[in-house]
Amino acid sequence: MEIPQELIDRIVDHAREEAPNECCGLVSGADGAATEVFPARNEMASPLAYNVHPQDLLLITEEIEGRGEDLAAIYHSHTKSPAEPSQTDINLAANWPDPVYLICSIADPDAPVLRAWRLRDGSVAEVELKVS
Ligand SMILES: [Zn+2]
Repeated sequence: MEIPQELIDRIVDHAREEAPNECCGLVSGADGAATEVFPARNEMASPLAYNVHPQDLLLITEEIEGRGEDLAAIYHSHTKSPAEPSQTDINLAANWPDPVYLICSIADPDAPVLRAWRLRDGSVAEVELKVS
């Protein structure tokens, strides 16, 4: 998946704003490239888990459809752990297997890490991020 550095920076900013809780949001895309970041509320307001607030989910998916684009990715942050999916993340993704899952780790505040994952049927595969 192709993603502009500017969008990565905005996800990192969101992660820092919400810390110590996890942040979450959606990323729109077109032709395999990420086009926009849409921050959402974490309904769980938790440092250990996230759930995109259903109201935000509805509004944002409508906006993305209105732009004629696709939901490319769902992102969330890990404030104390690596940018790897937890079992909770894998279970949550079972309900929604199509998007790429972006995880932003700010465990090292000076060196944020963003990684992308395909989470399907309980399996985990890393997706290459091409920063543009
Ligand atoms: Zn997670």
